[in-house]
Formats: sequence, C-alpha cells, structure tokens
Amino acid sequence: MTEKNAEGENLTDGFHLIIDALKLNEINTIYNVPGIPITDLGRFMQQAGMRVLSFRHEQNAGYAAAIAGYLTQKPGVCLTVSAPGFLNGLTALAHATTNCFPMILISGSSEREIVDLQQGDYEEMDQMAIAKSLCKAAYRVLHAEDIGVGIARAIRAALSGRPGGVYLDFPAKLFGQVMDANIGEKSLIKVIDPAPQQIPSSASIARAVGVIKEAQRPLIILGKGAAYAQVDEQIRVLVEKSGIPYLPMSMAKGILPDNHPQSASAARSLVLKEADVVLMIGARLNWLLSHGKGKAWGETPKKFIQIDIEPKEMDSNVEIVAPVVGDIGSSIAAMISAMGKDWDSPPPIWTDAIKEKVESNVARMAPRLQNNNVPMDYHGALGALRLIVREHPDLILVNEGANTLDFARSIIDMYKPRKRLDVGTWGVMGVGMGTAIAASVETGSPVLAVEGDSAFGFSGMEIETICRYNLPVCVVV
Ligand code: ADP
Repeated sequence: MTEKNAEGENLTDGFHLIIDALKLNEINTIYNVPGIPITDLGRFMQQAGMRVLSFRHEQNAGYAAAIAGYLTQKPGVCLTVSAPGFLNGLTALAHATTNCFPMILISGSSEREIVDLQQGDYEEMDQMAIAKSLCKAAYRVLHAEDIGVGIARAIRAALSGRPGGVYLDFPAKLFGQVMDANIGEKSLIKVIDPAPQQIPSSASIARAVGVIKEAQRPLIILGKGAAYAQVDEQIRVLVEKSGIPYLPMSMAKGILPDNHPQSASAARSLVLKEADVVLMIGARLNWLLSHGKGKAWGETPKKFIQIDIEPKEMDSNVEIVAPVVGDIGSSIAAMISAMGKDWDSPPPIWTDAIKEKVESNVARMAPRLQNNNVPMDYHGALGALRLIVREHPDLILVNEGANTLDFARSIIDMYKPRKRLDVGTWGVMGVGMGTAIAASVETGSPVLAVEGDSAFGFSGMEIETICRYNLPVCVVV
C-alpha cells in the first residue's frame, strides 16, 4: 500500500504488488544488479524486508539465482535492468533451463509502444522475443492488476514437470501504475502445489523391475535430477536393497557417500563397458554419458531403464526398454515396493570384479595424492583439499575449470547430498562466484570454491560481493 486517493481509499502500485506477490509465494531473496528501471523496485524490496543481493555483473547474479533454485526447489530470482542487463542475465537463464534448475529472470524493459514502433527508446529491445527461445516460458505483464497472475504463472512454469528457467518482462510503466489496494491484494495468487507428484503407471514399474530382475551385470546411474528431488533416503534404500553398484554423475556425488561400498565411481570405465542393464535416475544420456553408445559403453548389449519426470526424454539417444515417467520420489517408492521382500543381489562375480577394480584404482592413486612436489601439482593440491572436505562434510564445494574440474571431481570425495556444485550440463566456465554466493546465502554453510585460473577470471570481481556481504566463502585458485 502506498498512499490514499482523493476519496480516502487506500492505493497500491506496481512496485508493491510485485513485492507482495513474491512474498506471498515465499520468495524473499533476490539476486540483482540495480539500475534503470528497477532501482526503486530493489529499494522497496529491501524496505519490505526482502534480501536483495547486488552483484557486479548480471551473469553472476543469474548463476546465483539458478543454483538457488536447484538447492531450494523454489525458483531463484534474478532481477536486471533492460537491454544490456537483460542480455547479461540471459546466459544464466539458458544455463538454468539446460540444467533443469527452476529460476525466474525478471527484467525491466522499455515502453511497449515505443519498442514496437522502433522509435529509439532508452535501451530499446524486444526482450521477450529474444528470451522465448532460451527458456521454458516467457511472460510480459502490462497492467498492475495482472501482476499476481504473471508471477504465479512464472513460479508454476519454473517448478512443474521438468524444472527450468522462466522470463518475466516488466515494462517500466508497470511499476508506477496505481490501483485500489483491496482489489490489488485480491488479484494476488498463492501458487498451490507448484510441483505436483507425478505417479508413474504401475505397468511401467512392473516392466522396469522385470528388466532389473533378469540382469546379470546391472548398474544404477544417479544424476543431478536425483539430487534436486531431495529424496535421499529413498534412493539409499533402493540402492542398498537392490545391491546394485551405482555411479553418481558429478553433481549427484554425495547423495550416497562416495566411500559407500556400492559406489563404482573408481571403476567407471569398467562398469559402463560391462553393464548389461542400466537404470538411469534423474540423469540424461547426453554428451556427458557419450549419448549411451560408442566406445565408452563397450561391446556388451545394454538395456536402459530410465526414471524421469519428462516423458520426451525417453529414447532421446538410444532405446529405453523400460521408461518410468514420474517424479523420482514416487517412482522409487513404487519400485522398492514392487521388488518385494526377497530380492536377490546381483551375482557376486559382477560386484566382486567392481570392488577389486575400485580397490586397485584407489590404491594406485593414494601416493600421488600425498605428494609434496615443488612446484605443487594438481594431485598434491587437491589431495590436501580432499582431506578438508572429509573433515568438514557439510561444507559446499563449488568447482570449475578444465583440469581443476576433472581432477577435483575424481579426487575429492563427497559425503552429503547437494554439496558439490559445478559447471553443469554445458560445462560453463564462470559460474563459480555466483554459485558460491548463492550456496552460502541459501544454506548458511561454509563454501569452498576450487577454481581453475581461467574459470575464476570470468567472475573474479564478485570477490568484492563476497566480502561486502561477509559470506563464509573460501576461494582456492
Ligand atoms: P546429470 O547431468 O547429473 O546427468 P541431467 O541434468 O542430465 O543430470 O538430468 C537431470 C534429469 O532429471 C532431467 O532429465 C530432469 O527432467 C530430471 N528430473 C529433475 N527433477 C526430477 C524429479 N523431481 N523427478 C524426476 N525427474 C526429474
């Protein structure tokens, strides 16, 4: 509410309706770079008790919002100015969409009338047209009375089904539009059940369990979708009850501790080549898994089972003989119950071979991790950080670079879920500082950012942001 009109009725405006709509939906943290036309919006948000973090560059604010969405299952919000700020935020929006992270990019924009007639407004750009192809959904709000609907649609689009990035366009004139405060309040929507359970069909569960039962050399692959779902205990029960060795994708490390006896991480090449049945849980057969074919997967014919909330993901690269379309929690619960009481573990000839390979690879690596070479090398340096993570399993590890990423991923064991945050599906360099900032802001945990020097250069100026907000982030380059 802002003021009263001549009749003494309470009034509100676009600024306050946006704030009220976000707060109604428990969105209280905003990652932004202030400027025209959103400067006052940021100020009013702060007045209203929201946490508004100001970055040096929108791309980093966007990466922060993306990872905030991944960690919290609520859309992370990035707020930018028009044209250049919007474009800077767009890389992060596309990154969020590609990684299936819920995020909303809100950008102020120039006036529609002038943009559409291309009359040369300040920072004139048809932002919505540009954003559309890079996100899951894009909406523009022209009237104050539609703000509630616009924000509700953005939240639902970001969270439902396969999560992703949403663009929300607010032309400058919207902010100052005034309306009756009561009518304004009634126009706001609290989004009910934005990520509804998606129960898989019982036929798909029976089919999947049937395929696993016949397997001689089964393997489970856990992806970051499984980490996002926050059903860690159910995943543990499925893995342990089935007795099947598992391979965590990079950001799925720690759903089960990396020193779990069924972890096949240190025997990755062997299990990919030799497995005959592969159960994918929240992981895609994209380039990170060599598209499910070719040399990495060896000669052994494979049957793929896939649990995913997105039906179109099935058969994207190879045939999925048992697609399970559903949310991971519901799907795993149904599988555990369909497996019944007497479930036979995979043949020991398979699990013993993996154990042997894991042990020999770990033993071979051990002395290299303890080296004190001068100048220091990757193994010596990361071997030291490995111990720190082991002693502080609650810290969040942010990791980017080329060699720094590859070595750290295999050397540093993770013990808890969602503690390893990295470059994601595209392998984006420059996510580091934005990710570190949001990780500490959203969780309160200390953050260790292990950065290649080139990767660090993309977002290094955000060190100032880290210091300004006094965040518990330690950066190792
Ligand atoms: P990784 O890179 O770790 O292999 P991906 O990002 O490729 O993981 O895959 C994540 C998958 O998880 C996506 O296909 C996405 O649709 C799916 N996913 C995300 N959340 C859920 C969920 N709650 N239930 C089921 N599937 C999900």
